[in-house]
Amino acid sequence: IVEAIDVHKSFGVLDVLKGINLSVRKGEVVCLLGPSGSGKSTFLRCINHLERMTSGRILVDGQLIGYHERGGALHEMSGKELAVQRRDIGMVFQRFNLFAHQDVLTNISQAPVLNRGQPRNEALARARQLLKMVDLEGREGAYPYQLSGGQQQRVAIARALAMNPKLMLFDEPTSALDPELVGEVLNVMRKLAADGMTMIVVTHELSFARDVADRVVLMDQGIVVEEGPAREVLDHPKHERTQAFLRRMH
Ligand code: ATP
Ligand code: MG
Repeated sequence: IVEAIDVHKSFGVLDVLKGINLSVRKGEVVCLLGPSGSGKSTFLRCINHLERMTSGRILVDGQLIGYHERGGALHEMSGKELAVQRRDIGMVFQRFNLFAHQDVLTNISQAPVLNRGQPRNEALARARQLLKMVDLEGREGAYPYQLSGGQQQRVAIARALAMNPKLMLFDEPTSALDPELVGEVLNVMRKLAADGMTMIVVTHELSFARDVADRVVLMDQGIVVEEGPAREVLDHPKHERTQAFLRRMH
């Protein structure tokens, strides 16, 4: 469902992505690991065109992301077209990005009404269902400041899911949380994976990667150093840079 082909990204003279190739099948969970600054977030942001690639292309569900191809040349999409494309790609960031002035139910149900034209009562019913899924039944009326970081992050996941995305991108969803709150967010992600959601997860949670990921991809300095089945890469890394990275994580 995701096909990234030779993705390059530079910020000025800084080459951050140096030809990333990655394909992800429907229902697959891929964990992206790698040292700080290796380009994980940049790559994730390229997948929904929050970041403009320097070259290469990314297809999601057969659709070229961010561009139209005409006569062999790529033309960037309009903001409106990008918004339509992004509806199908859910993203959860490290920092909870809920709307502070809206209660939980509104946070979750607003986008499907405004951007998908879903009837309000339907969106509210779905939001309640999602709240149950993320173990926050009964917190419909709470405002973000009344919730713990872990609860906010679970609302953020529910909000992304409300759009019925084909693909979920997670960028270190637990690394801003107090340690005791990490588990509850990972549990929701486990549930999601078990439900068959296609997920790309940037994380430093190796045990999550080992248990949940179908595949682990190790990035370093803008390239994919090693990829393979989670246990293979984590327990028997072949590449010296993977070994060094994993040693530092223990
Ligand atoms: P971390 O684990 O710390 O989140 P990362 O693997 O996600 O790291 P990126 O955030 O993708 O790494 O950053 C890769 C490199 O690109 C870094 O050197 C960073 O400073 C640089 N970079 C990222 N965004 C920008 C930007 N908007 N302008 C200039 N440089 C940037
Ligand atoms: Mg990052």
